Amino acid sequence: MREENLTPACQRLYARIDLDALRSNVDQMKACLAPGTKMIAVVKADGYGHGAVPIARELEQAEGLWGFATATAEEAFELRRAGVAAPILVLGYVFPESYERMTEEEIRHTLFREDTLPELIKACKSLEKKGIHKKAKVHIKVDTGMNRIGIKPGEEGLAFVKRAASEEEIEVEGIFTHFARADETDKSSAQTQLTSFISFLELIEKNGCQIPMKHCANSAGIMEMPAAGMDAVRAGVAMYGLWPSEEMQKERISLTPALSLHGRIVCVKEIEAGEAVSYGGCFVAEKKMRIATIPAGYADGYPRGLSGKGYVLICGRRAPVLGRICMDQFMVDVTDIPGAAEGTGVTLLGRDGAEEITMEQLGEMSGRFNYEFACCLGRRVPRVYIKNGSVCLIREDE
Ligand SMILES: *Cc1c(COP(=O)(O)O)cnc(C)c1O
Repeated sequence: MREENLTPACQRLYARIDLDALRSNVDQMKACLAPGTKMIAVVKADGYGHGAVPIARELEQAEGLWGFATATAEEAFELRRAGVAAPILVLGYVFPESYERMTEEEIRHTLFREDTLPELIKACKSLEKKGIHKKAKVHIKVDTGMNRIGIKPGEEGLAFVKRAASEEEIEVEGIFTHFARADETDKSSAQTQLTSFISFLELIEKNGCQIPMKHCANSAGIMEMPAAGMDAVRAGVAMYGLWPSEEMQKERISLTPALSLHGRIVCVKEIEAGEAVSYGGCFVAEKKMRIATIPAGYADGYPRGLSGKGYVLICGRRAPVLGRICMDQFMVDVTDIPGAAEGTGVTLLGRDGAEEITMEQLGEMSGRFNYEFACCLGRRVPRVYIKNGSVCLIREDE
């Protein structure tokens, strides 16, 4: 599918991002939630490659949305710079140098380290001197089994929560944990984490601490663990129409991939039996063939692992990759696709007629993960945003 009115940069290759699909995925997930459970839209890694700012703009006014989550402070600043006013939570550890700016911009900290407290207080006092009266809003991270970041539940964790809650400069807005295995059919590990989180929350409440926002579910949890709903959930990959894993019950909810990738053939030629194609001469023709060159490569995020394995769609048919994927180009077999000519559109990811290539399939073929594929889409690939079926925005590298 090629759109009308694309910019010159989009002629070579572009990612089409369907905001209607994004909305529909968000609605599908919302339908899994109890009334009153808010959604935190996870837009880390530039919105899993889809573009954090356009995604945030699209969702900011959506009903039931609490705000956004990023992985780093810089990602949060980018949203603020673009005028996103909704709450933003940074999910990862941030170094103290950014605390003042985060606090000033009301970006929520993920708190789990003892030494963060005095640094946050210092940042607040420094803002105070400048006439800015703001508390540092934090969400305490609890490690219930992922063993990544977070305080351990139990008496020691309780002491930490109490200390944070007692500080004048700090507002404990939320508390959360993260599942390591909610995307598996067997939910026993995720259930153990959930139980551990709930008992910790009870311990905290018994000790007189009230924390307004409790959250633990990721996409897989939202779809398959209704008991993990609580005050909010953190929706990531499924918003973009991607599945958390192959083990998910795909018939329970309908997701539409938001991203597809489109280019054009730039060269068509015939080769004779015995001729090799691309670096290393790994592919050698056994017969006379027609081959086409696609102007996309691993620098665009089309994995080199698809060398000799992947395929693209041309005129609604599969054209297999021949030989190695280069940095900026690769070749495909169009012997049986007479319509393939210089200028013909190519779908590298997405649907063309009855055929579809999903990120899950490309991930599988290249030994990569669907999330990884989305996140690695190159900066030089323009993003074309579709709303109500037509182009509403084009983001390209200047
Ligand atoms: C990335 C992330 C999420 C979102 O996970 P998905 O599987 O993409 O839904 C939620 N919470 C935390 C802490 C994360 O790092």
